[in-house]
Amino acid sequence: MSLELIHSRRFDLTNRILIAEDEPRIAAFLEKGLRASGFATAVAQDGHEAVLMAQDENFDLLILDIGLPGKDGWMVLEELRGQGEQLPIIILTARDDVTDKVAGLDGGADDYVTKPFRFEELLARVRVRLRDNGTPKRQEEIVLKAGNIVLDLLKRQAWVGNRPVNLSAQEFTLAETFLRHPGQVMSRQQLLSRVWGYDYDPSSNVVDVCVGYLRKKLGRHCIETVRGFGYRLRT
Ligand code: CA
Repeated sequence: MSLELIHSRRFDLTNRILIAEDEPRIAAFLEKGLRASGFATAVAQDGHEAVLMAQDENFDLLILDIGLPGKDGWMVLEELRGQGEQLPIIILTARDDVTDKVAGLDGGADDYVTKPFRFEELLARVRVRLRDNGTPKRQEEIVLKAGNIVLDLLKRQAWVGNRPVNLSAQEFTLAETFLRHPGQVMSRQQLLSRVWGYDYDPSSNVVDVCVGYLRKKLGRHCIETVRGFGYRLRT
Protein backbone atom coordinates (compact mmCIF):
# COMPACT_ATOMS: atom_id res chain seq x y z
CA MET A 1 0.00 0.00 0.00
CA SER A 2 1.45 3.32 -0.91
CA LEU A 3 0.36 6.89 -0.93
CA GLU A 4 -1.20 7.75 -4.21
CA LEU A 5 -1.65 11.31 -5.31
CA ILE A 6 -4.58 11.62 -7.62
CA HIS A 7 -5.15 14.62 -9.89
CA SER A 8 -1.75 15.88 -8.95
CA ARG A 9 0.87 17.31 -11.19
CA ARG A 10 4.15 18.24 -9.62
CA PHE A 11 6.59 20.77 -10.90
CA ASP A 12 10.16 21.27 -9.86
CA LEU A 13 9.62 24.91 -9.04
CA THR A 14 8.87 25.46 -5.41
CA ASN A 15 6.87 28.34 -3.99
CA ARG A 16 9.00 30.59 -1.80
CA ILE A 17 7.52 32.07 1.35
CA LEU A 18 8.95 34.94 3.37
CA ILE A 19 8.15 34.80 7.09
CA ALA A 20 8.43 38.13 8.93
CA GLU A 21 8.29 37.08 12.58
CA ASP A 22 10.51 38.12 15.47
CA GLU A 23 9.52 35.38 17.91
CA PRO A 24 11.99 32.52 17.23
CA ARG A 25 9.63 29.82 18.46
CA ILE A 26 6.88 30.84 16.06
CA ALA A 27 9.27 31.47 13.14
CA ALA A 28 10.78 27.99 13.63
CA PHE A 29 7.32 26.42 13.89
CA LEU A 30 6.30 28.07 10.61
CA GLU A 31 9.51 27.20 8.76
CA LYS A 32 9.37 23.58 9.83
CA GLY A 33 5.74 23.14 8.85
CA LEU A 34 6.01 24.99 5.53
CA ARG A 35 9.13 23.10 4.50
CA ALA A 36 7.51 19.80 5.38
CA SER A 37 4.65 20.90 3.11
CA GLY A 38 7.00 21.46 0.19
CA PHE A 39 7.64 25.22 0.36
CA ALA A 40 10.95 27.03 0.53
CA THR A 41 11.18 29.59 3.34
CA ALA A 42 13.21 32.51 4.62
CA VAL A 43 12.77 34.47 7.85
CA ALA A 44 13.01 38.23 8.43
CA GLN A 45 13.31 39.07 12.11
CA ASP A 46 12.33 42.73 11.96
CA GLY A 47 10.38 45.12 9.79
CA HIS A 48 13.36 46.67 8.01
CA GLU A 49 14.67 43.28 6.99
CA ALA A 50 11.19 42.22 5.86
CA VAL A 51 10.90 45.18 3.47
CA LEU A 52 14.41 44.67 2.06
CA MET A 53 13.97 40.95 1.55
CA ALA A 54 10.51 41.35 -0.02
CA GLN A 55 11.93 43.96 -2.44
CA ASP A 56 15.15 42.19 -3.34
CA GLU A 57 14.22 38.56 -3.52
CA ASN A 58 11.66 36.68 -5.46
CA PHE A 59 9.04 35.47 -3.00
CA ASP A 60 5.58 34.14 -3.81
CA LEU A 61 3.95 35.06 -0.49
CA LEU A 62 4.67 36.98 2.71
CA ILE A 63 3.51 35.92 6.17
CA LEU A 64 3.69 39.16 8.14
CA ASP A 65 3.56 39.47 11.92
CA ILE A 66 2.09 42.80 13.05
CA GLY A 67 4.16 43.08 16.23
CA LEU A 68 7.62 43.41 14.66
CA PRO A 69 10.55 45.47 15.96
CA GLY A 70 11.97 48.23 13.79
CA LYS A 71 8.93 48.77 11.62
CA ASP A 72 5.70 47.11 12.62
CA GLY A 73 3.72 44.98 10.21
CA TRP A 74 1.41 47.86 9.23
CA MET A 75 4.38 50.00 8.18
CA VAL A 76 5.86 47.10 6.22
CA LEU A 77 2.54 46.56 4.48
CA GLU A 78 2.14 50.25 3.68
CA GLU A 79 5.65 50.53 2.33
CA LEU A 80 5.43 47.45 0.12
CA ARG A 81 2.00 48.28 -1.28
CA GLY A 82 3.09 51.92 -1.72
CA GLN A 83 5.83 50.65 -4.02
CA GLY A 84 3.31 48.66 -6.01
CA GLU A 85 4.43 45.31 -4.62
CA GLN A 86 1.77 42.73 -5.55
CA LEU A 87 3.04 39.88 -3.36
CA PRO A 88 0.16 38.13 -1.52
CA ILE A 89 0.40 39.01 2.18
CA ILE A 90 -1.13 37.10 5.10
CA ILE A 91 -1.06 38.98 8.39
CA LEU A 92 -0.44 37.33 11.75
CA THR A 93 -2.01 39.18 14.64
CA ALA A 94 -2.93 38.58 18.25
CA ARG A 95 -6.61 37.78 18.72
CA ASP A 96 -7.02 40.76 21.03
CA ASP A 97 -5.70 43.10 18.35
CA VAL A 98 -8.22 42.18 15.67
CA THR A 99 -9.59 45.59 14.85
CA ASP A 100 -11.74 46.77 11.97
CA LYS A 101 -8.48 47.52 10.25
CA VAL A 102 -7.50 43.87 10.29
CA ALA A 103 -10.92 42.39 9.68
CA GLY A 104 -11.59 44.75 6.78
CA LEU A 105 -8.18 43.99 5.33
CA ASP A 106 -7.54 47.66 4.72
CA GLY A 107 -4.04 48.50 3.68
CA GLY A 108 -3.66 45.83 1.08
CA ALA A 109 -3.33 42.60 3.04
CA ASP A 110 -4.95 39.55 1.47
CA ASP A 111 -5.89 37.62 4.59
CA TYR A 112 -5.16 37.38 8.27
CA VAL A 113 -4.70 34.67 10.89
CA THR A 114 -4.99 35.29 14.61
CA LYS A 115 -2.46 33.99 17.13
CA PRO A 116 -2.45 31.40 18.51
CA PHE A 117 -3.15 29.53 15.29
CA ARG A 118 -3.02 25.95 14.14
CA PHE A 119 -0.51 25.27 11.42
CA GLU A 120 -3.06 23.59 9.16
CA GLU A 121 -5.30 26.66 9.32
CA LEU A 122 -2.49 28.89 8.14
CA LEU A 123 -1.45 26.36 5.49
CA ALA A 124 -4.98 26.31 4.06
CA ARG A 125 -4.89 30.10 3.69
CA VAL A 126 -1.44 30.03 2.12
CA ARG A 127 -2.67 27.55 -0.47
CA VAL A 128 -5.73 29.64 -1.28
CA ARG A 129 -3.61 32.79 -1.75
CA LEU A 130 -1.12 31.03 -4.01
CA ARG A 131 -3.98 29.66 -6.09
CA ASP A 132 -5.70 33.04 -6.33
CA ASN A 133 -2.51 34.72 -7.36
CA GLY A 134 -2.47 33.07 -10.76
CA THR A 135 -0.90 29.73 -11.49
CA PRO A 136 0.59 28.08 -8.47
CA LYS A 137 4.05 26.79 -9.28
CA ARG A 138 3.29 23.52 -7.69
CA GLN A 139 -0.25 22.30 -7.91
CA GLU A 140 -1.38 20.95 -4.59
CA GLU A 141 -2.94 17.56 -4.19
CA ILE A 142 -6.72 17.50 -4.04
CA VAL A 143 -7.25 13.89 -3.02
CA LEU A 144 -5.06 11.77 -0.74
CA LYS A 145 -5.38 8.00 -0.71
CA ALA A 146 -3.82 5.27 1.38
CA GLY A 147 -5.23 1.75 1.11
CA ASN A 148 -9.01 2.08 1.25
CA ILE A 149 -8.91 5.47 3.00
CA VAL A 150 -9.57 8.48 0.76
CA LEU A 151 -9.52 12.14 1.79
CA ASP A 152 -10.91 14.89 -0.45
CA LEU A 153 -9.03 17.95 0.78
CA LEU A 154 -11.29 20.50 -0.87
CA LYS A 155 -14.61 19.03 0.27
CA ARG A 156 -13.03 17.95 3.60
CA GLN A 157 -14.71 14.58 3.12
CA ALA A 158 -13.33 11.17 4.06
CA TRP A 159 -14.24 7.75 2.67
CA VAL A 160 -13.40 4.21 3.63
CA GLY A 161 -13.82 2.36 0.36
CA ASN A 162 -17.08 3.73 -1.06
CA ARG A 163 -18.51 4.61 2.35
CA PRO A 164 -18.41 8.31 3.30
CA VAL A 165 -17.21 8.89 6.87
CA ASN A 166 -17.91 12.00 8.90
CA LEU A 167 -14.83 13.38 10.63
CA SER A 168 -14.58 16.42 12.88
CA ALA A 169 -12.25 19.20 11.71
CA GLN A 170 -9.46 17.97 13.98
CA GLU A 171 -9.96 14.33 13.08
CA PHE A 172 -9.77 15.27 9.40
CA THR A 173 -6.60 17.29 9.89
CA LEU A 174 -5.03 14.47 11.88
CA ALA A 175 -5.97 11.96 9.18
CA GLU A 176 -4.53 14.30 6.54
CA THR A 177 -1.27 14.54 8.49
CA PHE A 178 -0.98 10.75 8.62
CA LEU A 179 -1.79 10.33 4.92
CA ARG A 180 0.83 12.90 3.98
CA HIS A 181 3.45 10.85 5.88
CA PRO A 182 2.53 7.21 5.21
CA GLY A 183 4.58 4.68 7.13
CA GLN A 184 6.43 7.42 8.98
CA VAL A 185 6.38 7.52 12.78
CA MET A 186 4.86 10.80 13.95
CA SER A 187 5.56 11.82 17.54
CA ARG A 188 2.78 13.19 19.76
CA GLN A 189 4.58 16.52 19.76
CA GLN A 190 4.69 16.66 15.95
CA LEU A 191 1.01 15.82 15.74
CA LEU A 192 0.11 18.32 18.46
CA SER A 193 1.88 21.19 16.76
CA ARG A 194 0.57 20.38 13.28
CA VAL A 195 -3.03 19.76 14.24
CA TRP A 196 -3.61 21.68 17.47
CA GLY A 197 -1.07 24.52 17.39
CA TYR A 198 2.34 25.48 18.68
CA ASP A 199 1.21 26.56 22.12
CA TYR A 200 -0.80 23.48 22.95
CA ASP A 201 0.02 21.84 26.29
CA PRO A 202 2.43 18.98 25.49
CA SER A 203 1.13 16.94 28.44
CA SER A 204 -2.35 16.89 26.90
CA ASN A 205 -3.73 13.55 25.73
CA VAL A 206 -5.79 15.03 22.87
CA VAL A 207 -3.62 13.22 20.30
CA ASP A 208 -4.30 9.81 21.84
CA VAL A 209 -8.00 10.53 22.16
CA CYS A 210 -8.28 11.72 18.55
CA VAL A 211 -6.29 8.71 17.25
CA GLY A 212 -8.80 6.54 19.11
CA TYR A 213 -11.69 8.22 17.26
CA LEU A 214 -9.91 7.83 13.92
CA ARG A 215 -9.40 4.12 14.52
CA LYS A 216 -13.10 3.74 15.25
CA LYS A 217 -14.08 5.63 12.11
CA LEU A 218 -11.40 4.57 9.62
CA GLY A 219 -10.58 1.05 10.80
CA ARG A 220 -9.01 -0.37 13.95
CA HIS A 221 -5.71 -1.24 12.35
CA CYS A 222 -5.12 1.81 10.16
CA ILE A 223 -2.92 3.60 12.71
CA GLU A 224 -0.40 1.67 14.76
CA THR A 225 1.08 2.70 18.08
CA VAL A 226 4.87 2.82 18.12
CA ARG A 227 5.59 2.48 21.80
CA GLY A 228 7.68 5.29 23.21
CA PHE A 229 7.58 7.26 19.93
CA GLY A 230 4.10 7.94 18.68
CA TYR A 231 1.92 6.72 15.84
CA ARG A 232 2.29 5.57 12.28
CA LEU A 233 -0.12 5.08 9.40
CA ARG A 234 0.09 1.42 8.54
CA THR A 235 1.37 0.82 5.02
CA1 CA B 1 5.97 39.62 17.12
